[in-house]
Amino acid sequence: MAELLLATDVDDFLFEHAGLFCEWSNAECGTNLQVHEYHEDWPLLWGLDITKPEDMAEATRRRNLFITPEIFREFPPIEGMPEAMQQLKGRRKFGAAGVTKRRTTLESVTWAAINQHYPNIYEHLVCLTEVNDQGVRVGSRDKVEVCIEMGAFALADDQWEAPIGMALAGLEGVVFNRYPMNFPDHLFPAVSVNGSVKNRMPLGLYEVRDPDQLLRHFNADYLRA
Ligand SMILES: [Mg+2]
Repeated sequence: MAELLLATDVDDFLFEHAGLFCEWSNAECGTNLQVHEYHEDWPLLWGLDITKPEDMAEATRRRNLFITPEIFREFPPIEGMPEAMQQLKGRRKFGAAGVTKRRTTLESVTWAAINQHYPNIYEHLVCLTEVNDQGVRVGSRDKVEVCIEMGAFALADDQWEAPIGMALAGLEGVVFNRYPMNFPDHLFPAVSVNGSVKNRMPLGLYEVRDPDQLLRHFNADYLRA
């Protein structure tokens, strides 16, 4: 196994997702979502109040219409990411693992897409969300715990919660911040340090905006050997 295992997210890290979700939702659910408004609380995006049983049932119905192998197998890779991951993989010590909130029922379609667009890079894939036969979520493993269990030194993810968890655990979290919603400024307010204004981030938490910045981030000598 690789000495330095990088865990990565799948949706909106390896493959386009948010924009396609918005397009699907606008066509099928009567919303008018723009990609920069996307977040992972889908009932909120749909204006559904899941404390009401009928809204909860509607949210489940919509989720199950969208979360299908037929739809997910069509998500294209993020531009430049296959090349960036290939370069990282070319380093002797480096390995990669996918850790995603996707349902376990999508594991085979996810592996197929990874092997098609990111061939010979990924060693593991963990889908965290369990659903029952009705497509109702019955459990989900914690992304940070899984990363720690598998021995990952870092997690790169478009959402900020798990990278913060990695940083708090003394590991490394890298937020792939393509959309402002992913990493709101108010989380880490700007402070003035020696005359320059910076967002004060916890130790171990980083932000990159595109695959080139991701590569540069992991360009440290200890990863090159
Ligand atoms: Mg994601």
